[in-house]
Amino acid sequence: MREFKLDDFPQQTQSRLPVTAYPDWSRFLKALWLHGMSVNNIDPVLVDIHCDRALMNIKSSMLARNEVPRVRPSAFLACARQTYFQVCSGESAEKMPDNIGPTFAVGHLLHELSYAAVKSALPEGFSVDTEKVVSMPDWWPEDYTRFNQEGHVDMWITVDDPFKAAKYLPDDAPKAMLIDFKTMGGYSYKKHGKTLWGEDPDGFGYLAQLSVYAAALSESNTEMGAIIAGINRDSLTQPLLPRYIEPEVLTAEANRVRVAIEMALEKTDPGEEFLIRHEKEAYFYCGRGGRPGYCPFRTKCAAEPSRETAKGGAHTC
Ligand code: SF4
Repeated sequence: MREFKLDDFPQQTQSRLPVTAYPDWSRFLKALWLHGMSVNNIDPVLVDIHCDRALMNIKSSMLARNEVPRVRPSAFLACARQTYFQVCSGESAEKMPDNIGPTFAVGHLLHELSYAAVKSALPEGFSVDTEKVVSMPDWWPEDYTRFNQEGHVDMWITVDDPFKAAKYLPDDAPKAMLIDFKTMGGYSYKKHGKTLWGEDPDGFGYLAQLSVYAAALSESNTEMGAIIAGINRDSLTQPLLPRYIEPEVLTAEANRVRVAIEMALEKTDPGEEFLIRHEKEAYFYCGRGGRPGYCPFRTKCAAEPSRETAKGGAHTC
């Protein structure tokens, strides 16, 4: 989607976020979202544009499953063994349930409304781009049969005028922010607020995804930050829950992903990497200890124990 400048809609200047000094980007973003979501502030033109986009995505969520069997920032990177299985045997990932459509549909709607809200509230001095197309980092394999060659970041806000931006953010705040919105149920929303990103299990690969996009974007912008912003789909009057991810956490995660990809390309089985890393805390995602699990390779993974969990040596594909 093209970059949005506030001058595109000069008639709506009264709806922008009032001048307030926020201590950081997380609180600034939360305030933008809350302010913009108000019926008094949201721009009707933007509601129109983003509801049209949402409708298109809602329809496709209900009518088709688009599970491309390729490694991409949003899939097969949470655990090195997922990457290995996917690269070595692309057909074996378990499909999502046939009735997952409404979950995706609601996610699309909440994303598009969030874009409209933040754009409506964003003050002068900033620009915002949504669904921004990004190339992969230079270490990402150029093998388009097994790896997606581009991705989309939900939102990218940049400081155009540091003088105007300084009314809202500290001088030393990053000059660009990568934002990934995640719609989540009430339990996950609460958990998101307490998650130690970089330490706690990240079974759905939120951090892995963000780290790949951050690596790609930081190649051209060194003054950037990154946020995972939780939307509580069970209680939509709850505020946005943005969590700023420290740069060193993003770098460490990108390095982990990079090693996982290298091992997969070398056809070296890393073993039950996620289980080894998080032990019993991984059971919820891996489907062990009587839990149903969410990993698309949980059955295959359990059926092929590695040398870490069984005698017999490492597997190769
Ligand atoms: S079940 Fe767990 S350890 Fe096995 S591939 Fe999936 S995430 Fe990795």
